[in-house]
Amino acid sequence: MSRHSRLRQLLHRLPDLSDQERDTSRTVYAHLEQLHPDTLLSGLGGFGLAAVYKGKQDGPRVLVRCELDALPITETLDIPYRSEVKGVSHKCGHDGHMTMVAGLAERLHEQRPERGSVVLLFQPSEETGEGAQRVLEDAQFAQVTPEFAVAIHNLPGFPRGQVVLSKGAFASASSGLKIRLQGKTSHAAQPEAGRSPALAVSQLIAGLSALPQFRTALHEPAQVTVVHARLGEIAFGTSPGDGHVMATLRAHSPAVIQLLAEEAVAMSENIARTYGLTASSEFTQVFPATVNDKQVTALVETCAQETGLEIHRPDTPFAWSEDFGHFTSRYRGALVGLGAGETCPPLHHPDYDFPDELLEPGINLLERVTRKLLEQQDV
Ligand SMILES: [Zn+2]
Ligand SMILES: [Zn+2]
Repeated sequence: MSRHSRLRQLLHRLPDLSDQERDTSRTVYAHLEQLHPDTLLSGLGGFGLAAVYKGKQDGPRVLVRCELDALPITETLDIPYRSEVKGVSHKCGHDGHMTMVAGLAERLHEQRPERGSVVLLFQPSEETGEGAQRVLEDAQFAQVTPEFAVAIHNLPGFPRGQVVLSKGAFASASSGLKIRLQGKTSHAAQPEAGRSPALAVSQLIAGLSALPQFRTALHEPAQVTVVHARLGEIAFGTSPGDGHVMATLRAHSPAVIQLLAEEAVAMSENIARTYGLTASSEFTQVFPATVNDKQVTALVETCAQETGLEIHRPDTPFAWSEDFGHFTSRYRGALVGLGAGETCPPLHHPDYDFPDELLEPGINLLERVTRKLLEQQDV
């Protein structure tokens, strides 16, 4: 077994949930220390780490990002390195992404950049959509603000090692919305004495689901998925006094998701008014669209060809979201898909496991892209 597979499987055995990546962060820190970066930051936006490798001459700063967190999913696989943490496992392949970036650290340790510098970011809390933002807001991040930002995500369903690249939007914007309706309970025999949100909840479920149909044009992909609803408590003697509806909004473009958000809030307020209720809304797990920079994408494409990897350009952005969008909305960058195999179970599926065969091609591609970005003059 290669040392890269060993590291990947070690990380796989000891997964941590978002916001709780203390042990993973410690393991990675100890590993990176041996590869002598010029700077090794910790506690970035939580348990985040950043290893910096500097060149002799001035040049651009390139950030390469991977994720520390695993998911609240029970592993069903019977593998020698199965998760030792109950109910938690690496089902998005972040163990593999971390190993690829650690592999890049080895290469940079062996051969420092000629110019510029490389920041290897191990980001916390990607799965909750909060980590990227927190890293960006961390005062320490000012020391490592990059000119370019790249990341790789493995993609089951695509041939193993195929590079999936899009010029423009790669992953969709999404946002969780929780609408609370407040009325007044009463005896179930006297509903007229209270303010039940029952009809408001049912109208909101229907209205939110229909929003894309009535508020967006045919060329503006949009989706509203009602994911949860609640009405009062379970009690046959009580007419409910409160309720909530939760939905996930998705769109390819920032303008469309903004429109969906505004329309959803306005709708909840109007419906609440009809039934004498008060409505309050809260957005959570907000992921911006991940939009790739054209020049960086072209550069990745060249590197993929040079490393002998096949390239696929999807016609439309992926429906899922990635918090790397916080980086691509600030810096020129790209999120690069790497096919995990057509028979590989989907991400977040209990049977999924990152294929170790992707580690070497992933490291080679990352190294090539990074070194080529460091040569860029027009920054
Ligand atoms: Zn995921
Ligand atoms: Zn992921």
